[in-house]
Amino acid sequence: MDLGVSALATLSTGEVVAGAKPHKALLSRLQRLSRSLSRKVKGSNQRNKAKAKLAKLHARIAHIRKETLHQLTTDLTRCLHTIGLEDLNVSGMVKNRHLSRAISDMGFFEFRRQLEYKAEMRGGVVVVGDRFFASSKTCSACGHKLEKLPLSIRQWTCPTCGASHDRDVNAAMNLAHYAVSYTVSACGGDGSGLGRKSKTKPAPMKQEFDRKLDDVQVCISSK
Ligand SMILES: [Zn+2]
Repeated sequence: MDLGVSALATLSTGEVVAGAKPHKALLSRLQRLSRSLSRKVKGSNQRNKAKAKLAKLHARIAHIRKETLHQLTTDLTRCLHTIGLEDLNVSGMVKNRHLSRAISDMGFFEFRRQLEYKAEMRGGVVVVGDRFFASSKTCSACGHKLEKLPLSIRQWTCPTCGASHDRDVNAAMNLAHYAVSYTVSACGGDGSGLGRKSKTKPAPMKQEFDRKLDDVQVCISSK
């Protein structure tokens, strides 16, 4: 799956997981409360009341975020055995102020942490792509790698094979390929070991673009 800002995750099947965004919805309330707090006299009863209100709202936001993420990671690890994720340089992305709120709302780190322990609990595996693995810029059909792909480009056509791609779905497919080839290489290479999880991290095999995505157990759509 490809993790993003407009949607929490896009699966290689094209399914989109929206994710929790309580912060955005409650943001105006949060701003109003903080403004009213700053106007109150320090040490006053009114200020203490406003403080308590603000703390309650923060707790509510955290609760919504937590519940939604847990439900989501439970569903995903129940339905998917092998999950390929990209190694997001989240701290780098958070520095971009346009992305920062959405990203902290999404709770990427927590999402990944939950996926990993729940997958392990259910005998599945989460394979995190190498930080330099160009999941977005690589054509999932033929392996052609673009020089660059600005974030604003959502659809593109491969100059080599002519395949047309949705940016996020293509990235998710590459991560699925990566996860499958990684799991297969870690388990002996004949594909029969797909059901096992690996603790070691051998260098992933060269991408196998002919590998069918059917190899990845996907049942989210049947929910
Ligand atoms: Zn191509």
